[in-house]
Amino acid sequence: MISFWEKDSFIQYDFIIIGSGIVGLTTAIEYKESHPKEKVLIIEKGILPLGASTKNAGFACFGSLTEICDDLENMPADKVIETVEKRYIGLQKLRKRLGDSNFGFQQLGGYELITEEQKKYLERTEEINTLLYPIFKEKVFSVANDKIKSFGFHHKTVKHLLFNQFEGQIHTGKMMKGLIDLARSIDIEIITGTEVTDFVDDGDKVIVNCRNQTQKVDFYAEKISICVNAFAQKLLPQLEVHPGRGQVVITNPIQDLPIKGTFHMDRGYYYFRNVGNRILLGGGRNLDYEGETTTEIKTTSNIIHHLQLLLKEVILPQTPHYIDMKWAGIMAFGDQKAPIIKLLSDRIGIGVRMGGMGVAIGSEVGKEINNLFD
Ligand SMILES: Cc1cc2nc3c(=O)[nH]c(=O)nc-3n(C[C@H](O)[C@H](O)[C@H](O)COP(=O)(O)OP(=O)(O)OC[C@H]3O[C@@H](n4cnc5c(N)ncnc54)[C@H](O)[C@@H]3O)c2cc1C
Repeated sequence: MISFWEKDSFIQYDFIIIGSGIVGLTTAIEYKESHPKEKVLIIEKGILPLGASTKNAGFACFGSLTEICDDLENMPADKVIETVEKRYIGLQKLRKRLGDSNFGFQQLGGYELITEEQKKYLERTEEINTLLYPIFKEKVFSVANDKIKSFGFHHKTVKHLLFNQFEGQIHTGKMMKGLIDLARSIDIEIITGTEVTDFVDDGDKVIVNCRNQTQKVDFYAEKISICVNAFAQKLLPQLEVHPGRGQVVITNPIQDLPIKGTFHMDRGYYYFRNVGNRILLGGGRNLDYEGETTTEIKTTSNIIHHLQLLLKEVILPQTPHYIDMKWAGIMAFGDQKAPIIKLLSDRIGIGVRMGGMGVAIGSEVGKEINNLFD
């Protein structure tokens, strides 16, 4: 039950966005920037954003060589190039919006560790460079085997190293804090700790049913956008979106850490980077696909153990270290790598299924959702 005052002042909006991850925030910011007088509300079920945007590894990346080769097996080449381009454009937008130093953007370059069994991918370096040339106007991938020794990797496992000059890294927390602060500074309202349970387009407006532990409230909007990524099936069971959990560990600070940059292994299934003088390592979803197809935010001992072994045996074989923190986040996947960006009705937009590279693509998706309503 609500009061006259609440009805008059609290529940009517021009645009409501469900989900305050990078996609929800950029969708709201893009809209408010072009409609400054309109009332915009973001509704987030977590106290803090609860899916991937505050849990990720902070790679400002658009696809490693083996991953792009893998994608070419499953998608037409023009779709693969289009997705890489969207990620790259999204990244440039994010940099422009926040300013590099405000979210710890550093273009230290990215590397990919190649084992003997993956050597076949190296033969495709020039082919992939040629495919990506229209986007980057320069060679993207080059061999950097001379660095294997200086990084201190286990030389019997890591036989080859590829370098990507365009890749960077960010401070994920600063990025999300920056986007939230920016949204609030332009009068976008954000309600946290509140789940949207349903929505109805009655032909005149959209009714958004919400609840938390103490209250149920319906909000009303001219239009809404659903930006809930891996949680889409709960609101939109018809969508082809599957959750995929990602587990991450971070080491203690390591004196004179020689490893700087972002690093990919095994077609993107493992990834690590330096965070200052620590190593952050994530991945291993392929060890238990079924178990990791979940929205449950927790770590599991088998995957964390595997990540620990990788650190000890391959990444930091000569350096004493320990795991300082571990956590998990939830990504969204589907039969294709491209996100779902579409209208459900004239008043309801959807932007979900960001895959494993939503930092890069998120800003571009926010723009595309707004374009749907034009
Ligand atoms: C461990 C890990 C590492 C990653 N590393 C990288 C990386 O290095 N680089 C990269 O580019 N990408 C990375 N990603 C992927 C990237 O983080 C995601 O693609 C991106 O954050 C998705 O953003 P989003 O806004 O679509 O979704 P989310 O960040 O998941 O946001 C969706 C929000 O919707 C909210 N929500 C859901 N249902 C409801 C509801 N019913 N009512 C209200 N709110 C709701 C959720 O609580 C959540 O906060 C990683 C992801 C993980 C998990």
